[in-house]
Amino acid sequence: MNQYDVIILGAGPAGIFTGIELAGTGLKVLMLEKGRNIDVRKCPANSQGRSCVHCQPCDILCGWGGAGAFSDGKLTLTTEFGGILNEYMPKKKLEQLIYYIDTTYLKFGATEKVYGDNYQDEIRKLQRVANAADLSLIPARIRHLGTEKCVQILTGMRDFLEQKCEIRTSMPVAEIIIKDGQYRGVQLANGEFVYSKYLIAAPGREGSEWFAEQAEKLGLDMVTNPVDIGVRVEIPATVMEHITNIVYESKLVYYTKSFDDRIRTFCMNPYGEVVTENNDGLITVNGHSYAEKKTDNTNFALLVSKTFTQPFKEPIAYGKYIARLANLLGGGVIVQRLGDLLDGRRSTPERINRGMVVPTLTDATPGDLSLVLPYRHLVAIKEMLEALDKVAPGVNSRHTLLYGVEAKFYSSRPKLNNVLETQIANFFAIGDGAGVTRGLAQASAAGVLVAQEIKAREM
Ligand SMILES: Cc1cc2nc3c(=O)[nH]c(=O)nc-3n(C[C@H](O)[C@H](O)[C@H](O)COP(=O)(O)OP(=O)(O)OC[C@H]3O[C@@H](n4cnc5c(N)ncnc54)[C@H](O)[C@@H]3O)c2cc1C
Repeated sequence: MNQYDVIILGAGPAGIFTGIELAGTGLKVLMLEKGRNIDVRKCPANSQGRSCVHCQPCDILCGWGGAGAFSDGKLTLTTEFGGILNEYMPKKKLEQLIYYIDTTYLKFGATEKVYGDNYQDEIRKLQRVANAADLSLIPARIRHLGTEKCVQILTGMRDFLEQKCEIRTSMPVAEIIIKDGQYRGVQLANGEFVYSKYLIAAPGREGSEWFAEQAEKLGLDMVTNPVDIGVRVEIPATVMEHITNIVYESKLVYYTKSFDDRIRTFCMNPYGEVVTENNDGLITVNGHSYAEKKTDNTNFALLVSKTFTQPFKEPIAYGKYIARLANLLGGGVIVQRLGDLLDGRRSTPERINRGMVVPTLTDATPGDLSLVLPYRHLVAIKEMLEALDKVAPGVNSRHTLLYGVEAKFYSSRPKLNNVLETQIANFFAIGDGAGVTRGLAQASAAGVLVAQEIKAREM
């Protein structure tokens, strides 16, 4: 029979945690995943040292375990990072959900060690200095799963769920069926129809465009998400050592005096490297650090969040437009010394060479970011660097390097209630694909939230 109680669309962390929470309830659950099963997911580029051959679907992003299956799996145990679920529930409730999913990861074999639990006195001292500079310092607790561990945990979850519900991998959902305003079921890409009382759509970033099209077809209202645009900052590692040595990952948040815009540090990489990222031909900047290989520099992003109001509804297009401008002027990423930016002149290769900070990204073009970034973004970056300098003297040096553009996008977000249900009853949308999360922990928490809601309605 093609009739189920619950269909879960997508087997990333959001879908998997929905399944785990519904296990043992007696509800008939079907999980549909367009990618392959975890044992057979294999990227030909990674395994043979070739460049991307554009498999459909991509084995890195799709399949049992979802997008981060082959990452080193940093489980960020805080309400402040990795999503906006705090907009849907009180902070206390989100904390409880994150604690709950963390214990589930532990049950399936996650490592016991949590970074960020030590040095509480030093962290409080840093927070005091930050507060005096109008900055909030938010330290994060991180459970580092590790690449192989991540696959092991996800395989364990698959083995568990196989006993509790029906799982169909390599099975994309083509259409969501709504009749007379009520959710009925889904049509699979092979033409088959399957029906259920509840649908939990968790298609991830990879499935977000498809999901946005479905939402439009179904007439769901969409909420405009913020777009985060800014630069990556590179400084000598010694300038931030007193912070990076005690907090594994931290976020510093500032509201600008000029526009009351929110600007924050993001993705700090002590002794790391600045790298480029290719988003379908659009080159943006990012950063990473290796466990073994260390540089003399630390890098982090400074991102200005902007939410647009009526009538503009295309924040992703706006972000891409600005990043494209940097590509147009610089042929890719532009690098500029802070001193040159403040003096109103471009950086040149000679000026960069004279600088104290040796760039770790060698193919960025020395140029002028004031020709790329909007005025209020530039003002926010300038104000933030001045504030940061009070916490870490030397950040606001003339020699500090700024690389642009760094941009972070949320997927389109349908209007959802406080249990992540769309305007159509019994049709829930969760995880990165619904634009409400951006990390493993909150995606998993979203899965638990909707499953608990279904249990409450059914039991
Ligand atoms: C390389 C990499 C490293 C990462 N590292 C970290 C990290 O260390 N820490 C962290 O917190 N986060 C990390 N992330 C982010 C994290 O992986 C995601 O936030 C998380 O996986 C989102 O979970 P999700 O279930 O919402 O979506 P996904 O994990 O994207 O899963 C969605 C699933 O839905 C499937 N799907 C899509 N459309 C359909 C359809 N029409 N029919 C059926 N199935 C469909 C997809 O194939 C996919 O498997 C990383 C991401 C990447 C790409």
